[in-house]
Amino acid sequence: MRTRLRNSKFLDVVLLVSICSTVAVAEPAVKQIGMGLFAYISDNDSSANSTFLVGDAGILVVDTGLNATEGSKLLSAIRRVSRLPVTYVVNTHYHPDHQGGNAVVGPAAVVISTDFTRERTLALQKDPGMKAFHFEPADLTFQQQVTLHLDPYSVQIYFPGKAHTSGDALVYFPEQRAISMGDLFLNRSSPAMDDGSVETWIHSLDHVLELPLENVVPGHFELATKSELKRFRDYLNDLYQQVLALKQKNKTIEQVRHDIHMEKYSDFRQYTKYEATFSDNAAVIYQQMQAH
Ligand SMILES: [Zn+2]
Repeated sequence: MRTRLRNSKFLDVVLLVSICSTVAVAEPAVKQIGMGLFAYISDNDSSANSTFLVGDAGILVVDTGLNATEGSKLLSAIRRVSRLPVTYVVNTHYHPDHQGGNAVVGPAAVVISTDFTRERTLALQKDPGMKAFHFEPADLTFQQQVTLHLDPYSVQIYFPGKAHTSGDALVYFPEQRAISMGDLFLNRSSPAMDDGSVETWIHSLDHVLELPLENVVPGHFELATKSELKRFRDYLNDLYQQVLALKQKNKTIEQVRHDIHMEKYSDFRQYTKYEATFSDNAAVIYQQMQAH
């Protein structure tokens, strides 16, 4: 699947983007989750959640939604809270549902991402199949981490290792005890897996779980607490351990798809059409193990 993922990258992106529409939340929900900090929970599954932090002189926004329409909805929500300019936009990764609203939400903002995300975004920009999307690649990139001082707050943006993609960023707000997870965390859902690493994904989540945290903003679906993040981590880890055990018994990938037992997670959303099911996740893990 590594190879297949690479070859069908753009298709996957489109799939990830449109992941859904079957489960719709009623309205975009904005909730204050700390001093100056707000979670914006998207009203549809095809556009990502966002987070925004209102400082003394400007606003930082994490992820901007799928397109201009979604970006406008987000900007309206921001404007109901503050008239200050959006000075920074952080994109957690390159998938269009997280950065398609950049130009609308922060036309004059400094856009920040990992180097990897910028490279992939530049590639998408040139792809004829992605013409429907508008891209604003990052102005400022980093490899490991960067701390942004949005007075009176500070924001820690870091690359936790390959996970959902090979270059996701997490955004931690220490004063507010909150974190924006991008697609490293989908609340109560089987995630789509791009070309990353489930092994380091689990380690990343273990690290996040050690942080002082009261609110966790997932890439999609409802605002979460630490215990929901822990459950998602356990889902990935259970699946990883089961795949490992089966692989050590020389089971084929098809056998692994069928032999996993995930009844504990029967309430998780799964999307057959978008390769975001327990067995699809198991197959990706199997292939990542094989590639090692
Ligand atoms: Zn994604």
